Amino acid sequence: MSSTIVARDLPGRGREEARVTDRIADSSTRGVDQTAAGTTADRLAGETEQPYEYRRRELAEPDWTRLPGWRGVTREEWESAQWQRVHCVKNVRQLRAVLDDLVDERFYDDLEADQRERATMSMLLPPQMINTMVPERVPDTESLYADPVRRYMLPVLSDRRADWPSHPYATRDSLHEHDMWVAEGLTHRYPTKVLAELLSTCPQYCGHCTRMDLVGNSTPTVDKLRLTLKPVDRHDAHVEYLQRHPEVRDVVVSGGDVANVPWRQLESYLMRLLNIDTVRDIRLATKALMGLPQHWLQPAVVEGLERVARTAARRGVNLAIHTHVNHANSVTPLVARAAQTALDVGVRDVRNQGVLMRGVNDTAEILLDLCFALQGEANILPYYFYMCDMIPNSEHWRLPVWEARELQHAIMGYLPGYATPRIVCDVPFVGKRWVHMVAEYDRERGISYWTKNYRTGLEHDDPDALSRQYAYHDPIHTLPEKGQQWWRDQHPQDKRATAAAESSLRIAEAEAVGTGGC
Ligand code: SF4
Repeated sequence: MSSTIVARDLPGRGREEARVTDRIADSSTRGVDQTAAGTTADRLAGETEQPYEYRRRELAEPDWTRLPGWRGVTREEWESAQWQRVHCVKNVRQLRAVLDDLVDERFYDDLEADQRERATMSMLLPPQMINTMVPERVPDTESLYADPVRRYMLPVLSDRRADWPSHPYATRDSLHEHDMWVAEGLTHRYPTKVLAELLSTCPQYCGHCTRMDLVGNSTPTVDKLRLTLKPVDRHDAHVEYLQRHPEVRDVVVSGGDVANVPWRQLESYLMRLLNIDTVRDIRLATKALMGLPQHWLQPAVVEGLERVARTAARRGVNLAIHTHVNHANSVTPLVARAAQTALDVGVRDVRNQGVLMRGVNDTAEILLDLCFALQGEANILPYYFYMCDMIPNSEHWRLPVWEARELQHAIMGYLPGYATPRIVCDVPFVGKRWVHMVAEYDRERGISYWTKNYRTGLEHDDPDALSRQYAYHDPIHTLPEKGQQWWRDQHPQDKRATAAAESSLRIAEAEAVGTGGC
């Protein structure tokens, strides 16, 4: 049996197909995996040009004086980390002061409604990030609505799905990092690696943040967890754990964002890690390298980073920075300068871990433009793209696994092999899996099944941990109607989905009556 999924309602499809025709097996049982490669091949059949044309694009800092609130801001002010932090936008009133009447009331109302009803993150945007929205012209309402950076940093209610805003299996801590804490803020999930969350704040808050459970201020819909220990006690607990566990050789130092840890405190923590012989890799996680590059260009930070990098080099430890860039528009000369400065003072590598999101970077062209900007112009290695995690109210951003596999296929072969990012799914209770590693895939219900080859911190006594399969779920609105109906039957309590389905049925019937004579 064959069915057609119409993608016309999905924002940001751009020049990608408006219609994806795909064969769906006439079975609702597990193990139904229709490979996506056929659809890519079908799409390209008959075309004689290369699907992607590489053109080198020089980086440019968008002109911030095009925005009414920053008409008089000097370069010196713009490049000051302190000025950027003081002028962060935290609410609609402050956004109005920047954009004034370039944007009409509809947008501000939409934003306020989202903050009130759906947002899992509070608003926090450094001027640097706002300036990369609609970068080449004076924004207006429509261009701001359509902007890819706006779509994930400044979400509005009308962006979200009305039918299934959340997947029924979405959870606040979708990766169960908190469950795997071995000390406050220290997640031991993989056998040889830990994630150290030093604090719960960032210089910018991303709408899709996977750590929405802990990071940022509480919102009307999400009461955040709180770190309770004093930083010094938390750091002591981390160091003690690492000293007792020589099998852990790799520490991702994160948060939040390490750019919000006072430098002296961060340097002291890093030097303590470097004193543990068994720690061989340290990765600093900071989206601020892109969102607030001014931070990483401050003399005190650069000098401190150099001391840490020198110590790491002397002890043979790989010190790297991991950042989080999702669109080429965010890669500006200041971002490139911050990355190059880190490399110049001895950081071994600066790598990007982006997140794949509908309307932001869901085409091969956008992903490749971003990768070439990172790799070719900013010396940042395109490393991973994560599928967006199953947190509440994220369905409008998420892509199904089959589409991620198509995108992986479509971006192969253009970049150097070592700089071709892997698209990965962070499967709950498993960890990162390359999207082609699915063990089984029920396309009708959108359930993929994955296996793993190590025990997480939760499974030391579980004999079945390595033979079990673990599920990940595609967004329900991307499923064929039969699959969507199955989910509505399973979750009749989700009144919104049922009501939305009934309402679209009524509209479809009305349209059928109206167009019946044509
Ligand atoms: S920078 Fe990272 S931790 Fe902070 S809000 Fe964004 S995604 Fe979350």
